Amino acid sequence: MGSTGNGIGSFGVSSGHTGATSIEELLKMPTPQDSTIVEYIWIDGTMENCRSKARTVCKQVTSVDQLSKWNFDGSSTGQAPGEDSEVILVPRSIYRDPFRGGQHLLCMCECEDPHGNPLPSNTRANAAKIFSDPKVDGEVPWYGIEQEYALLDAKTNWPLGWPEQGFPGPQGPYYCAVGANKISGREICDAHFKACLYAGLQISGTNGEVMPSQWEYQIGPCEGISSGDQMWISRYLLERICEMAGVVVSLDPKPIPGDWNGSGAHVNYSTESMRADGGLAVIKKAIGKLEAKHEEHIKAYGEGNERRLTGAHETASIDAFSWGVANRGASVRVGREVEREGKGYFEDRRPASNMDPYVVTSLIAKTTLL
Ligand code: ADP
Ligand code: MN
Ligand code: MN
Ligand code: MN
Repeated sequence: MGSTGNGIGSFGVSSGHTGATSIEELLKMPTPQDSTIVEYIWIDGTMENCRSKARTVCKQVTSVDQLSKWNFDGSSTGQAPGEDSEVILVPRSIYRDPFRGGQHLLCMCECEDPHGNPLPSNTRANAAKIFSDPKVDGEVPWYGIEQEYALLDAKTNWPLGWPEQGFPGPQGPYYCAVGANKISGREICDAHFKACLYAGLQISGTNGEVMPSQWEYQIGPCEGISSGDQMWISRYLLERICEMAGVVVSLDPKPIPGDWNGSGAHVNYSTESMRADGGLAVIKKAIGKLEAKHEEHIKAYGEGNERRLTGAHETASIDAFSWGVANRGASVRVGREVEREGKGYFEDRRPASNMDPYVVTSLIAKTTLL
């Protein structure tokens, strides 16, 4: 009685389930204790979008090493030619699945070819190499990333709540606002906040942004490679929630041209020496190193960022590096409090909303520590 072979699994004779009469109820049904659904998530050939597929794992999973590699058809994702289409998924980190609940999991994966080489779209592999360098690892780098995004109506591709083919009143009243005439999409932002917390992400906050129907959340401070992992999972969750709402997420750095704020992904960064007494001197040295590599960093900070980094709308010009205390028009900002305390962190304001967090976090570590 109760063996898995007879098809009743660990439920035994009775599951306690009283029957479902709708899709919603079926989705909420309990699943057997020894069946974990794992959603394998990876970055596709666009290097901006996630893909995922699910499998049943016949055990309870408590660590990522318990998950085996899997594969998918790379010819359908722009990641492999049709005649040799197999791409290998390598599990790297796991999170609780807020959609399925229970013991079910989300898994962030790397993509490799059948010989074990990372695909060109697999930017995590190089980032992990940088973060495992003793000179980087020994400095315990922390990242807090501010992800800005815009919500668009799925039918018109125009920002949610904006007049059809028209514009709302000029910017000013919308940042951190309340009220039906200023805010749209709050339930999406808040559902995402809860989903991130449930999943186990270090989401530190959210806020309404300067352009109406533009929002922000922050993930951090996270150490090393886990910043990129958590950022990608947070974007996956946002896409899933917006899919439920029938709303489109835009990570375009300048979703609406003209006198409307673009979307960035400011990266707040610190090392152990920056957080310790006398850290401000270390911060200033690191900023000098970033200045010397400005062009290289701009190239890695997101497609279309030149439409955003104009020098207006709380940005610095893309062509010239600048930094300042409490200056939101600079490439890099040091907080007032950091100046007062003489230690802490700084903010690289250049990265665009569509940047790859694996690339950006590891490049900042490489430039400042290697
Ligand atoms: P802003 O004032 O630019 O809007 P936010 O409050 O939106 O900044 O985001 C700041 C982010 O920096 C948060 O995710 C926070 O957790 C993170 N952070 C705080 N301290 C550090 C630190 N020492 N190193 C790296 N990131 C940090
Ligand atoms: Mn912010
Ligand atoms: Mn912001
Ligand atoms: Mn910021």
